[in-house]
Amino acid sequence: MKNISVIGSTGSIGRQALEVIRRYPDRFRAVALCANESADLLAVQANEFGPEFAVLRSADKKISVAGVRFACGEEGFEEACAYPSADIVLVAVSGFAGLKAALCALAAGKDVALANKESLVVGGDLVLSLAAQKGANVLPVDSEHSAIWQCLHFDRHAPFSRILLTASGGALRDVPIEKLPFVTAKEALAHPNWKMGAKITIDCATMLNKGFEVMEAMHLYGADLSRIKVLVHRESIVHSMVEFADGAVLAQMGVPSMELPIQLAFTYPERLSCALPPVDFAKLGALHFEEVDKGRYPCFSLALACAEKGGTYPCILNAAGEIAVQAFLRGQIKYTQIAEIIESTLSQPLQGGTDSYAALAETDALARARAQTIVKEVIA
Ligand code: MG
Repeated sequence: MKNISVIGSTGSIGRQALEVIRRYPDRFRAVALCANESADLLAVQANEFGPEFAVLRSADKKISVAGVRFACGEEGFEEACAYPSADIVLVAVSGFAGLKAALCALAAGKDVALANKESLVVGGDLVLSLAAQKGANVLPVDSEHSAIWQCLHFDRHAPFSRILLTASGGALRDVPIEKLPFVTAKEALAHPNWKMGAKITIDCATMLNKGFEVMEAMHLYGADLSRIKVLVHRESIVHSMVEFADGAVLAQMGVPSMELPIQLAFTYPERLSCALPPVDFAKLGALHFEEVDKGRYPCFSLALACAEKGGTYPCILNAAGEIAVQAFLRGQIKYTQIAEIIESTLSQPLQGGTDSYAALAETDALARARAQTIVKEVIA
């Protein structure tokens, strides 16, 4: 029996993780559930899964479920992340908040199933050095990074020559570039292949997400930028590939679903039935791979520049992205202004550091404040 603490249980990944736990009740148990503010759904989940501990991170709401200890606020969040009886902590919160969750879990020596990519983007060195120091595993849940992990036989340190990271191109891949300033949030949220949360779906449309995933792969697999090649692959069947010294390329394929990478992080090296339909290759016909059109995806180029520069740049990029996407989802700015706001936030030097959580939190806060100011100027 593996005990799992689910951080972000009411989000898209968290709900699919509970689906896996529901499928294999004799193997997995949700010992702690933590949500941000979805009190009603957390109560439903606590009723069904009977965890020892349930937490709402936002301090102004409460739930009451018989037999379940409840806490709210930051202390409860930290306790759930480092929950004593957990074997694996699934970090499935989105954005900068994932960094604290991952660091809390690793500091307690817990294996972390990491669905939150931002923690590696902003604090990859910190996260992975803490994992090494504590002898804890970081298990990739992002589908591309799970694919790479599978191609490397679950060994993040295995040698390879290149990573071929695939991207769908997002919801707006066929919209003429000159029409991009006029697309609505609803259009940008209509992802052709994947069902995910709002922030990441917009990041797929801009390919900021793929830029983050390049940095995530650099950290997880010790690769520099020159060894990671991004390819647009419209069908989202090849979840990524690894090329080896002899020229052999291994790909992991499957229907687009997060359930497999989530379940595999819990069961590896074992594979169990995942209740997903098989890929029907004959029906699918051709698989396509293309270069990234840099003119269509300026956020991707900004992210690669930040990956190259390192330091505080990835943290500033992430913060600016969160603010800009939020403004777009609220209808305050145009789609194409997301990239403009990020670029403008990155353009001036900023105080702050990267060598501790506190330093990163300061950098994040400064970058957010600057990005907010730029958003206000843009909408004024
Ligand atoms: Mg991904």
